[in-house]
Amino acid sequence: MSHSLPFNSAMINGLFTPLPPEPELDETPGFLAILLGSSLVVFSEAPHTLLQEGCLPAEIVPPEKKPLKIGLWQGKPLRAVRIATDTVLPVEYEALPFQGPDMRLDNTLATIAGRAAQILHWERRSRFCSHCGGELIRIPGSWGKRCPSCGDEHFPHIHPCIIVLVKRGDDLLLIRNAAWSAGRFSLVAGFLDFGESLEECVQREVREESGIEVTNIRYANSQCWPFPSQLMVGFLADYAGGEIKPDGVEVVEAGWFNKDNLPLSPGGLRSISRWLINTYRNV
Ligand SMILES: [Zn+2]
Repeated sequence: MSHSLPFNSAMINGLFTPLPPEPELDETPGFLAILLGSSLVVFSEAPHTLLQEGCLPAEIVPPEKKPLKIGLWQGKPLRAVRIATDTVLPVEYEALPFQGPDMRLDNTLATIAGRAAQILHWERRSRFCSHCGGELIRIPGSWGKRCPSCGDEHFPHIHPCIIVLVKRGDDLLLIRNAAWSAGRFSLVAGFLDFGESLEECVQREVREESGIEVTNIRYANSQCWPFPSQLMVGFLADYAGGEIKPDGVEVVEAGWFNKDNLPLSPGGLRSISRWLINTYRNV
């Protein structure tokens, strides 16, 4: 079975070679991943590709924004930079979302944009030591940082989350989070808590979000989710008992949906939520 999901490295195998950051001695022009919010800047005309450095008008990336080399794309340096969300792009450029229902970017470009976003998020959040406030410096050959003041070391924060497809015969459990628009449903998901195994997290999240109990919890697949930096660990589980009763605060609706009559796009097209449903609804 293919376990290749958008945002996972396998999606860009053969295209992208990740490299640890290093002092930028290399001036070779390469490609640029320019992020604007959760969108990637590309030429407006399809087929969309990563932009090459050197063909860009300077007003898109002001000189004070120094792009960060994150690896090689098709053998050439790939540098990533985030620009202000109010940047007005010249007409021949367009910012296409790599998150959400807009699928104009293909999965390889969405994946490299996600990688760039995840790295730049860590870079923004790791300027200062969370222990003493000192300014951090790079640990050579790694994305980690070290604090010269107190000696603490800090490494990229990737947060584990569970997501679970709960089945009861031909029905799937879907929930609607209070923050989502009416009619938008997805699978139960949530962050790992202190002291929990992943399976315990599945049991707790299902109980909290829907009120029911589950059994036969088994691992299915996992996905990097760079919004901003999660690892989604996907599980399957079977209904064991209880009545559906959402908490009414975090989750406003929960219910059993027949596998052949699901609401529109549960979880988004690039998500492991969609993959779990498509892969296991008929199993
Ligand atoms: Zn420190």
